[in-house]
Amino acid sequence: MAQLAPRRIAVLTSGGDAQGMNAAVRAVVRAGIAFGAEVYGIRDGYQGAVDGGEGIVPLSWESVGGIQHRGGTVIGTARCRAFRERAGRRQAALHLAERGIDRLVVIGGDGSLTGADQLAQEWPGLLDELVADGSLDRETAAAHPRLSIAGVVGSIDNDMVGTDMTIGADSALHRIIEAVDAISSTAASHQRTFVVEVMGRRCGYLALTAAIAGGCDFALIPEAPPEVGWQDEMCESLRRARSLGRRDSIILVAEGACDRSGAPITADDVRRELQERLGEQARVTILGHVQRGGTPSAFDRSMATMMGYDAASALLSARPEDGPQLIGIHRNRVRRTPLMRSVADNRAIATMLDSGRYDQALAARGDSYAELFGLLRALSHPSPDQASKPARIAIMHDGGLAPGMNAAVRAAVRLGHDRGHVMLGVQDGFAGLSSGGVRELSLADVEGWSGLGGADLGTRRFDVADEHLYAVARTIEDHRIDALILIGGFAGYEKLYRLYRERTRYPALGIPMVCVPATIDNNVPGSELAIGADTALNTIVDSIDRIKQSAMAANRCFVIETMGRRCGYLTLLAALSAGAEQAYLPEEGIELDQLMADIERMRTRFRSDRSLFVTLRTEGADDRYSTETVSRIFAAEGQGLFDVRSVVLGHVQQGGNPSPFDRVLAARLASGAIEAVCRALESGSHEAVMIGLVDGQLRRTPMRQMSDLVDWDARRPVDQWWLGLRTVARTLAEPPN
Ligand code: ADP
Repeated sequence: MAQLAPRRIAVLTSGGDAQGMNAAVRAVVRAGIAFGAEVYGIRDGYQGAVDGGEGIVPLSWESVGGIQHRGGTVIGTARCRAFRERAGRRQAALHLAERGIDRLVVIGGDGSLTGADQLAQEWPGLLDELVADGSLDRETAAAHPRLSIAGVVGSIDNDMVGTDMTIGADSALHRIIEAVDAISSTAASHQRTFVVEVMGRRCGYLALTAAIAGGCDFALIPEAPPEVGWQDEMCESLRRARSLGRRDSIILVAEGACDRSGAPITADDVRRELQERLGEQARVTILGHVQRGGTPSAFDRSMATMMGYDAASALLSARPEDGPQLIGIHRNRVRRTPLMRSVADNRAIATMLDSGRYDQALAARGDSYAELFGLLRALSHPSPDQASKPARIAIMHDGGLAPGMNAAVRAAVRLGHDRGHVMLGVQDGFAGLSSGGVRELSLADVEGWSGLGGADLGTRRFDVADEHLYAVARTIEDHRIDALILIGGFAGYEKLYRLYRERTRYPALGIPMVCVPATIDNNVPGSELAIGADTALNTIVDSIDRIKQSAMAANRCFVIETMGRRCGYLTLLAALSAGAEQAYLPEEGIELDQLMADIERMRTRFRSDRSLFVTLRTEGADDRYSTETVSRIFAAEGQGLFDVRSVVLGHVQQGGNPSPFDRVLAARLASGAIEAVCRALESGSHEAVMIGLVDGQLRRTPMRQMSDLVDWDARRPVDQWWLGLRTVARTLAEPPN
């Protein structure tokens, strides 16, 4: 029987670099190899393909080990003029075809993806020409009749239709928020105004989300040029913030910001306006290339990994009729769409912007984008309304700390005030609710909370016993609480659910109630993501990076324990983002056979040239096999080939200031909570709901469904969307035999 020709994939990164590209390259290479293909790396974008020779090199499983934490791209990126010409593409086709490569993953922006599509379209014609002039033999050309393409968008601007996020955008947001936080502390000391310019020529995503996350006063973005007279509105925003006791003011300007006539508005224009109108000496900071730099965030690594894995999988199952595919993320899941449709949709937005059709451009960016835009307006331009019937809305936490709790309270207080309601804070969760620990919260009270870690309202573990129910009902009556918002984790959900079910016995509990998910464990029903989990994940991934570095010189196995109770979310996502050989999850438990199989893997690895084996274990993975026990078993069976260290990451995971994503999530969910409460109050219902992200969108789930959605023994949701990622983590952790 004729031997099957090996399937060969090549991967390249092109155009501007973006943090997270390395994770994508690693995933393409390892998934490609795992699926039985040979994988090549093309150096410096299309240039390597045009040059051939050392520009196209085979990549092994090991060659892409330990690169996820590195910024930029290890295979290089470039802008290649020659590839824009047909002659250049012909050279590229020759160098690919003669190596038997007919599947290509392109990681880059819309220019790079357009180039890929063009090459795919011209491929048969180019190969005919190469055969005709004798550069390529007929058999080789016949063996590769078409070029399959999978495109992955790497661009810090998040400027591509067809994917909710592009690789690099989240990391760029981290850099921006680090800068905004730093600027905000110096600005506060001197009571100064800063104008910060961020990247985004055609897309204001970075400016918009950074303004929400940074609690900024004003943002100028390309898709929503301000109305005539924006200068007055901006100055009014600043005055109002100052009157609330705010000492620093920050205005964010996307580099592509313009006015309604299309004339650019630069950071310096904004500075001048402030000087003329307010007599203020504002300072300008242009962030520039720091936004592309630094370590990729946990999200950029896990998302790029998912996309890279799917790109390899798409190419190996490609059918002739498929055409080039864009591998994107839609509502937390990988999604494939026709590449050129996305590129065309993107171009259409550019045309809308050029011709002043801004509303269309804003709408074309998608629902989430419009929602963020509305949210920034609501948060930064409070225009207190007199509600026809002002209500008293109480906010409280419960359980473990989650970074971003303060941000959620701030947003809820602002948005609630905006609707004319009185906002109340309950001190120390259910302890405060049963002892009358309730006070009014003014806008000034929560100023500056958007980036603040911890939970200033206080949160603690407190068991609500039968005798507390009466006390809780009394507090609700005494403080005339009309609605209750809980921002917390599983235990808080459980307690609020109990209050909800006790309504018949205690009529005072018959008020609208809302649960907002805030727990690093990410184990509550009604939401795919909880506030705090992203921050914790970044902390974990950063710790794993450091632990890996510390072990450079020794043959060492690490058993790293993460939080999460009986939910393996943090563990699995950390394994995807930081790279780990094994992740022990509560959803699967631990079996001795598994540990023995892992020991065998370690022995094989350490006998060859490997010096490190990282395993992660959720704290509640299995009661029989604690982190200490697992470590001892590994050490006992190591046969002197390696030593073992166990690391319990502990409470650092709940600490720190919230990540940009968690700050934005907190604001989104808080706005959903206020919306739910206001709806219920207006309609006179006592609706109790859980607010969350479902399929990536804000949703209300009735609290009465809680029992159906929860596994009460394991204290986690019955359905956990992320469990599907186990296959990806496993495939990338172990080379095939
Ligand atoms: P990005 O991919 O980040 O949008 P560019 O637009 O600069 O960056 O494109 C990167 C490279 O992709 C270019 O230098 C060129 O090699 C290739 N490329 C871009 N546009 C085209 C095109 N229309 N046809 C062929 N190749 C292109």
